[in-house]
Amino acid sequence: MAVLDQLTSQQAIDLENKYGAHNYHPLPVVLSRGEGVHVWDVEGKQYYDFLSAYSAVNQGHCHPKIVAAMTSQAQTLTLTSRAFYNDMLGKYEKYASQLFNFDKLLPMNTGAEAVETALKLCRKWAYEVKGIDENEAEIVVCENNFHGRTTTIISFSNDPVARKNFGPYTNGFIKIEYDNLKALEDTIKNNANVAGFLVEPIQGEAGVYVPSEGYLSKAKAICEKYNVLFIADEVQTGIARTGKMLAVDHENVKPDILILGKALSGGAYPVSAVLANDNVMNVIKPGNHGSTFGGNPIAAAVAIAALDVVRDENLANNAEELGQLFRSELSKFIETSSIVNTVRGKGLLNAILINDTEESDTAWNICLKLRDNGLLAKPTHGNIIRFAPPLVMTKEQLLDCVSIITKTLKAFE
Ligand SMILES: *Cc1c(COP(=O)(O)O)cnc(C)c1O
Repeated sequence: MAVLDQLTSQQAIDLENKYGAHNYHPLPVVLSRGEGVHVWDVEGKQYYDFLSAYSAVNQGHCHPKIVAAMTSQAQTLTLTSRAFYNDMLGKYEKYASQLFNFDKLLPMNTGAEAVETALKLCRKWAYEVKGIDENEAEIVVCENNFHGRTTTIISFSNDPVARKNFGPYTNGFIKIEYDNLKALEDTIKNNANVAGFLVEPIQGEAGVYVPSEGYLSKAKAICEKYNVLFIADEVQTGIARTGKMLAVDHENVKPDILILGKALSGGAYPVSAVLANDNVMNVIKPGNHGSTFGGNPIAAAVAIAALDVVRDENLANNAEELGQLFRSELSKFIETSSIVNTVRGKGLLNAILINDTEESDTAWNICLKLRDNGLLAKPTHGNIIRFAPPLVMTKEQLLDCVSIITKTLKAFE
């Protein structure tokens, strides 16, 4: 078989199984093309994408403006490293800093790298500005968090699958219950070494847990009171996914450190960023931190185009409106359903809770059936299915998807 021969789905799956590390358990479907809200498998079957690559493809697959920016830049200049300046990075940094209302941006590539960057930034600020004794800084995190896969980040995960046998772990993190303001204040007020609070505005991977209204703004106020940095991981919730440009915008919260990734590039290229004001960002000096690819001209051109698309196509409003429609349609279905308990979410980041045990394979089997019926989604944890289509979806398409989902679920009653 020549390397570029067209494969059948089974051949592609067999190749990954044999030659790829088994670090994922993909739904058996092999995709070879995407456009807007749709993807196609190698046999030509069309699907609605209801995962959007974990909310990286908010702007829809292969958005022509993003692809044009990427290919044009790829033919001009791809990488200089930060040993030299390039003529795209500054433009992007200005555009994104002004859009999100921060003084500065630090460019990285993946979400996990941006989280690591935020942690390092917070620690350095703790020693050089807040005045905590060296090596004593603590960062408060939440139970059931997901912030990526590096050794430090999994050190403060409580998912045994992500964590076990990867020790020894990094110290300096205190875990508290999510959506619990008392736990936050008790922890911070009794510990002068707390430098930051790292939080997802909605816990995505954990199963789309939306905190109580007011949680984020009150948590921010507590952080301010004790001079603790509020660090928002908006890698999944940001870039219009939840119906506002940022999920913290729902409560008018301005984080001290903002972490972006995923849809910052519309899924075209790995682009992540950390944003902060000068009082925090200026602790980073030449040589303290970096990345060969971070801030490369393709990433800069792609991110500018991806953010343009979000604004020009009003994707935040569309996510807000379609999200409400989705939850109200699913709620109607749930009234008479024995297979689904709950629909929850914000904007177009939603999940349903399947009425079965955490260990059952019902959610997985439902996703297989959804696939057969032309819609791709995946369980997050056990019996929870996340629904997060591209934000460029139309109302008509969404209702079509609702009918696929409800028809599929009915077959499991
Ligand atoms: C996906 C995700 C990350 C990690 O991003 P990668 O690009 O996979 O490293 C970090 N935080 C949150 C909230 C995420 O959803």
